[in-house]
Amino acid sequence: MECKKETNLKNCNCTYPCSRKGMCCDCLAYHRRNNELPACYFSAEDEKTYDRSVEFYMRRK
Ligand code: SF4
Repeated sequence: MECKKETNLKNCNCTYPCSRKGMCCDCLAYHRRNNELPACYFSAEDEKTYDRSVEFYMRRK
């Protein structure tokens, strides 16, 4: 399967400087390991807090 990094980057809302940007498989695995969600689950305002925790997500719902 071909990597879709370039396409993914066009849809990525993450503003944190990170080497996983555009690599959704690595991004999701990383945050899942830490009981977190990727930036794309959060609004632009909430994403900027860099709090990716499930708890924060649930509070903001
Ligand atoms: S959501 Fe997390 S892992 Fe994904 S690009 Fe942003 S900081 Fe990196």
